Amino acid sequence: MTYAKTGGAAGGGTGWHVPEEDLRAYARGDLAAPLLWSADTHLAACAHCRGVLAGAVDPVALDAGWDRLDAELDAPRPGPLESLLLRLGVADHTARLLAATPALRRSWLGAVAAVLLLTVAVTAGHTAGGSPTLFLALAPLLPLAGVALSYGPALDPTHEMAVVAPTHGFRLLMIRTVAVLAVGLGLNGLATLALPGYGLRALGWLLPALALTTTGLALTARLGPVLAPSLVGGGWIALLVTAEAARVNAGDPLAPFTAAGQGVSALVAALAAGLLILLRDRFDAGRANAA
Ligand SMILES: [Zn+2]
Repeated sequence: MTYAKTGGAAGGGTGWHVPEEDLRAYARGDLAAPLLWSADTHLAACAHCRGVLAGAVDPVALDAGWDRLDAELDAPRPGPLESLLLRLGVADHTARLLAATPALRRSWLGAVAAVLLLTVAVTAGHTAGGSPTLFLALAPLLPLAGVALSYGPALDPTHEMAVVAPTHGFRLLMIRTVAVLAVGLGLNGLATLALPGYGLRALGWLLPALALTTTGLALTARLGPVLAPSLVGGGWIALLVTAEAARVNAGDPLAPFTAAGQGVSALVAALAAGLLILLRDRFDAGRANAA
């Protein structure tokens, strides 16, 4: 085997090039790993060897080689979540998108579970007969944060893919939102089961969670993926502080968790969902402007 040594500059500084017989084997599809890998890597960076390859072989075989390389680069082996989704019959591009959603990763789910466990522990040990205020105040923020986290370009490795993918921007947003919301509400629901002493009052977070998430998404069209959820989350905390100050008896539930407050939450959620549908085109045309 002869290793061609031509001018160093053409080889990107190393002076090494893939031997011509290896290039011919590469073109025929006969080159085996690890020579195949080093040829792939080198060819991606070296115009000289690509020239030799193009001259030495017929173009059909060459195209097949590049197609295979492209396919390998574009298709990392599916992880456990992606495999599970594929097995459940989810379309492969949707499964890829969901598996790459930051809020569905183990690190995020672990953080949410830890926060909920801590909150449940504090709430369960704290008041008897009252309202699980801390849990109700915190639980609506987690789905909002999860959805925000799965939509910010800074945090989302598939953002580029989302921009170029044929998937409609709004459809993509809804697929992710529904998945993240379902997981977030599920975790909150499990935490609620750990507070049986409060009965249905422990479910007071559900409508506020829907209201905060839909409002955050609707505002994202205008304010961008960072400011919108931050304002909504801050607004929720301000509302709770105000309600706490306005409370007459220490044992009373805070205003958002009374029957009237729940009604307002449901109304806000419905209005924000309507607004979101009205603004849906902004998520496609306005992606670049939103940031
Ligand atoms: Zn080369």
